[in-house]
Amino acid sequence: MPETTTNAVWFDRALKVIPGGVDSPVRSFSSVGGTPYTVVSGKGAYVVDVEGTRYLDFVQSYGASLLGHADPRVVAAITDAAHRGTTFGAPTPGEVLLAEAIIDRVPGLEQVRFVSSGTEAVMSAVRIARGATGRSKIVKFDGCYHGHADHLLVAGGSGVAQLGLPGSAGVPLGAVADTIVAPYNEVPPLTDEVACVLVEPVAANMNLVSPAPGFLEGLRAECDRVGALLIFDEVITGFRIELGGAAAMTGVTPDMWCFGKVIGGGLPVGAFGGTAALLEVLAPQGPVYQGGTLSGNPLALAAGLAVLSSVTEVDYSALSERSQRFGRDLSAALIDGGLSACVPAVGPLLGLYVGDGEAEISAPNNYAESKRLVASGVYPKLFHALLRRGMALAPGAYEVMFVSMAHTDAQLAEAVEKAAEAATEVAALLR
Ligand SMILES: *Cc1c(COP(=O)(O)O)cnc(C)c1O
Repeated sequence: MPETTTNAVWFDRALKVIPGGVDSPVRSFSSVGGTPYTVVSGKGAYVVDVEGTRYLDFVQSYGASLLGHADPRVVAAITDAAHRGTTFGAPTPGEVLLAEAIIDRVPGLEQVRFVSSGTEAVMSAVRIARGATGRSKIVKFDGCYHGHADHLLVAGGSGVAQLGLPGSAGVPLGAVADTIVAPYNEVPPLTDEVACVLVEPVAANMNLVSPAPGFLEGLRAECDRVGALLIFDEVITGFRIELGGAAAMTGVTPDMWCFGKVIGGGLPVGAFGGTAALLEVLAPQGPVYQGGTLSGNPLALAAGLAVLSSVTEVDYSALSERSQRFGRDLSAALIDGGLSACVPAVGPLLGLYVGDGEAEISAPNNYAESKRLVASGVYPKLFHALLRRGMALAPGAYEVMFVSMAHTDAQLAEAVEKAAEAATEVAALLR
């Protein structure tokens, strides 16, 4: 336990030894201003910082935590696994058990292989698609995030299916030369040079954008027409929006799935999968190489299995219902307070768009529309007004809100009250 001092002291120390003070840029407060709170512990819906301040947490590790923090079932599974050894470099029963649990829940999925992050899962799936089809081009959508592999770090452009440019320094043009970026919610015409279409079936990295009716069905049909593979990046949606993920919810079956976040129970895990026939291209059976020293780590998979076996279909529908009611109440509270607000929902996933109250806002359909709403600049003000009241949202306007299974009705009602006060304060500032 670190000595209790202040967030400012800890973050100053962090800035000296860790670039930007954070191990992932989304955790920095660069887009909202101020100093991040440094967390020492979490329990259920709450996190506690080094100053002893408790926050009602809607970050929940960007969706990795489904049951809430330090759930006793997950803690017990990790402890039990740790006593038996943390890593072996040999097959373990835990891999089989979690793979079976995942396949049982996702219609059409026959095999999965575990990796250690969502980034690795998507990178591997794309390599398989290219290896299986013998084609190079990949299509992704503007505003969708697929981890930080070079060829997927592409800034979107408007217009249909334009050639991507690197979205990060250090990514050579060659790495993205085969990446085509299309606007979300429009089916791009494909050619037979395309190996795969990679999509977040519910877009949750440009704040929340739902798939328009027919979009995913259209992608499925267009992929089939040219023999390209359809990959659903379910790193956020998998085992979050419902038992079988977005594929089950929408009824559209991809060729490959990518998972992460929830399936590690808060430890580092990713997974990718598809049919057994497709995955034959993967080493040791086939020519596509992919591997990892800590892949299928026993602790992480035990945590993931504890999560999946703790929740049923009923729990997911209850979570959706509770979250959507909260979303409606939150939106009403923000509007009553004098802001404009829109809280779109897909299952239990909630977006949050706020404006200055001058005009009503409605849910965006793509990244360009999402960016236009975020440009109001109201989010950072609301973020801080909520944080001062003990409610933590992600420190960036392009993230979604995560309500965990541990958030109670009483806690959500408390969050709505805080939002009403915060909105009144922010609206007054804006006048
Ligand atoms: C978080 C995320 C990733 C990357 O996962 P990491 O574990 O951070 O590497 C990929 N795709 C989507 C949709 C994500 O939300």
